[in-house]
Amino acid sequence: MTRDAAPIRLDHFMARANAAYYSRRDPFADFITSPEISQMFGELLGAWVAVTWQRMGAPDPFVLAEAGPGRGTLMADALRLLSRVAPACYAAARVHMVETSPRLRQAQAAALAAHADVVAPVWLDAVPDLPPGPLVFIANEFLDALPIRQFVRTAHGWDERMVTGEVFVTRPATDLPAFGPLATRDVPEGEVLEVCEGALCIARQLGARLSHGGGVALFIDYGYDGPGWGDTLQALCDGRPAWPLARPGTADLTAHVDFAALATAARDGGCATWGSVTQGAFLSALGLFPRAAQLARNQPGDVARQINEAAQRLAAPDRMGGLFRVMAMTAPDMTEVAGFEGLTPLVPGRAGMGQRHERAGEG
Ligand code: SAH
Repeated sequence: MTRDAAPIRLDHFMARANAAYYSRRDPFADFITSPEISQMFGELLGAWVAVTWQRMGAPDPFVLAEAGPGRGTLMADALRLLSRVAPACYAAARVHMVETSPRLRQAQAAALAAHADVVAPVWLDAVPDLPPGPLVFIANEFLDALPIRQFVRTAHGWDERMVTGEVFVTRPATDLPAFGPLATRDVPEGEVLEVCEGALCIARQLGARLSHGGGVALFIDYGYDGPGWGDTLQALCDGRPAWPLARPGTADLTAHVDFAALATAARDGGCATWGSVTQGAFLSALGLFPRAAQLARNQPGDVARQINEAAQRLAAPDRMGGLFRVMAMTAPDMTEVAGFEGLTPLVPGRAGMGQRHERAGEG
């Protein structure tokens, strides 16, 4: 791409850059995700799947789906746990992996090989391709990789930030997103509002699907709760921050997830939404610390220390435990979701005011 090329939309730039990045690079050389930090993460989610499935009335079969499964570590840890402690749930699960990268599909197939005979994993390109029926859906660090658009509030409306070469230019926005926070959110002049149309579409579709077919979808990601604004686009290359527009395909491009917009879109679809809550609160409610203590027992001192350090990293408020958030979407008749105890779900038709968010920290 040269500097003279016609400016392109940021989401188009990001889609191309990330498709190249995920198909060619090993993302895990640049960043580490919760399931890669410790087996405890996938195991706790496996336990969460079992409890959720019981509350749904133990449907057999049911669709157990994961979007953006990376190396397949989370699903492999979850299935191992299910096979040991919830064999009926394990036997009823039909695993569906939503993944676009052929390279990562291969890694995922290898990770699930031990379970393939029972759960018959299937790979799909997109969330709407999931078959009908009761659904338990998980996505960790999936939405933050989806392309965003950035709009700048002006006195008369909105400008859109476009990409030309390695710089941004702004243009008066023409084709505004059909739905999402742009129409309803109050943003000061000169500030950026990000819109992830892909995430909003997924939330709306899942919202409609869950309200009819039953089930739960769980999203875990770096992001903010409460409607806000700010430029959160970031690039990581070789583990270090980089300029997002430089050398497309060499860095992982992400943006924080706007959980308020996501939840609103899901409720527009017809489902109830829970949270978001912090990852620390969610994992603690699922029993992270007792599980860590159990794993560390009878281990040599350095191994025990590593296990406790991993639990801290996942759950401490000033680390991933506070930076990552967890949100659930459920069929409207679901009265309780593991990890969200004591919370009242939101039902269609609620909005709120905003605050500014900036990129920062570990991820
Ligand atoms: N969930 C994993 C990996 C996170 S990285 C973990 O926690 O370790 C993001 C993942 O989303 C990768 O698997 C990437 O290939 C996938 N991905 C990115 N964009 C996608 C899209 N549009 N559709 C499906 N998968 C996508």
